[in-house]
Amino acid sequence: MDIHEYQAKEILRDFGVKVPNGGLAYSPEQAAYRAREMGGDKWIVKAQVHAGGRGKAGGVKVCSNDNEIIEAASSMLGRKLVTHQTGAEGKGIYRLYVEAGVPIDREIYLGFVLDRTTQRIMIVASSEGGTEIEEISANKPDSIVRASIDPAVGLVEFQAREIAFKLGIEPSLTQHMVRTLMGCFNAFRDLDATMVEINPLVITTDKQVMALDAKMTFDDNALFRHPKISELRDKSQEDPRESNAADRGLSYVGLDGNIGCIVNGAGLAMATMDTIKLSGGEPANFLDIGGGATPERVAKAFRLVRSDQKVEAILVNIFAGINRCDWVAEGVVQALKDDPIDIPVIVRLSGTNVEEGQRILAGSGLPIIRAATLKEAADRAVSAWKADQPTITKLKAIS
Ligand code: ADP
Ligand code: MG
Repeated sequence: MDIHEYQAKEILRDFGVKVPNGGLAYSPEQAAYRAREMGGDKWIVKAQVHAGGRGKAGGVKVCSNDNEIIEAASSMLGRKLVTHQTGAEGKGIYRLYVEAGVPIDREIYLGFVLDRTTQRIMIVASSEGGTEIEEISANKPDSIVRASIDPAVGLVEFQAREIAFKLGIEPSLTQHMVRTLMGCFNAFRDLDATMVEINPLVITTDKQVMALDAKMTFDDNALFRHPKISELRDKSQEDPRESNAADRGLSYVGLDGNIGCIVNGAGLAMATMDTIKLSGGEPANFLDIGGGATPERVAKAFRLVRSDQKVEAILVNIFAGINRCDWVAEGVVQALKDDPIDIPVIVRLSGTNVEEGQRILAGSGLPIIRAATLKEAADRAVSAWKADQPTITKLKAIS
């Protein structure tokens, strides 16, 4: 789960990381009020969306008076911000963060990530802050400092001091840098984060070490033990298809194609997506219904996939071990009877209770296309989808 910049800053501040003063605003007037309340003569109005690259996309504006703040806020609120991280759809701006402008001397990149190869938290830092890490690693790979943290002892001071030294932090600021690194690490570990990124971490002209941006991602599987973090979830920033699925206990990832997939097991789901591509089609999603799926759960998955406007054919591919083909067939039939659709539905069943499953499909009287193997299912889905194209185009033109 991702959270907003202002939320990450609030958390990190509690862990001893310095951040500029700031306040949240839901309207242009409130943004101006926040600035007056804070005092000073330079403020940054920042769009709160779950994506980086806001600065280049017009989501971070420097203002020197009320009018400029109101103008900046009006130009952002209610709009969609498209950055290179949001995809073409963009993310809605419903909250703004108004922050005190800070005089920057140096910008540093600081990231904490989970390195799955070493199974450790890793620090990635660079003296070339302000730009994205992908760009830094392409253009200035030598500026990158890496350190792997031993889980038995955590981040130790000498290691933090060494990073500060490698980044060329002046000796009088080493202790501030150590405090910042420790704060980020403790927040990461204590709150089960999977990523903490501060870009830029700055040295101000008056010699302070401050986080001007902050991003945190949390492990969804550990959220149950951090109710305060769970509360920070902002569904307006999520793909509605994915949050609907998560609320129903299904693993779903939305994609750009038009063949909807309902599969059991992540591996088979990946193989199904690949096979659809090999057959000349494009999958609309990844969906894993999991093991022991009841007819109701299958029907739910079915409704979820069809609710995506882009879906023009549905492929159900089940290799039942713990699952039962008869339950899957019942779920598909139930969903189709409750709410008939005019797009092709292809079902491939294999494994536990397959004969009973086939009997249910055949006896349903529904125009379900059946297939014996994954390849056949993918071929049939793609050719049925192609054959249906003229009708679909016509239907879309009418509606
Ligand atoms: P993003 O990474 O999404 O573009 P940032 O929060 O990093 O957004 O802001 C972009 C740039 O704006 C920063 O690299 C920094 O140079 C500048 N900036 C951001 N916040 C402040 C601030 N409080 N004071 C001064 N400059 C800031
Ligand atoms: Mg940034």
